Amino acid sequence: MKQHRLLTQQAECAQEHINRIRHEQEQGLYPKSFFMPLGLQFEITSKCGLYCKHCYNASGESHSKDEMTLTDWKQLVDCVIKEGGIFQCIISGGVNLYYWEMAFLKSWIHYMKMEQALF
Ligand code: SF4
Repeated sequence: MKQHRLLTQQAECAQEHINRIRHEQEQGLYPKSFFMPLGLQFEITSKCGLYCKHCYNASGESHSKDEMTLTDWKQLVDCVIKEGGIFQCIISGGVNLYYWEMAFLKSWIHYMKMEQALF
């Protein structure tokens, strides 16, 4: 019974959110469709000190010959912004801090006014 009430509350909350978005769409405050992804995940390195068997992208060992350079990432950021931008990019790995040019990449993303999060 308690679980049923929780599910009902969640459904009501979701419906309120949908209604608010529809209302904002009618007023032209919220897009009716998107032509770009809302966000991207930059997997900047495969380096990781752990070797989890369940790792979804086989992180652990360095695959450095396959990794993009800072110049590559900057060009990608520039291209994404030029093509319309995204709300947020998530910088992940492996362990994103193992990427030796991480500070420069973060600074560039910040400079280009793109929201970012480390994961
Ligand atoms: S990236 Fe995460 S899941 Fe993958 S090996 Fe490292 S700690 Fe494990």
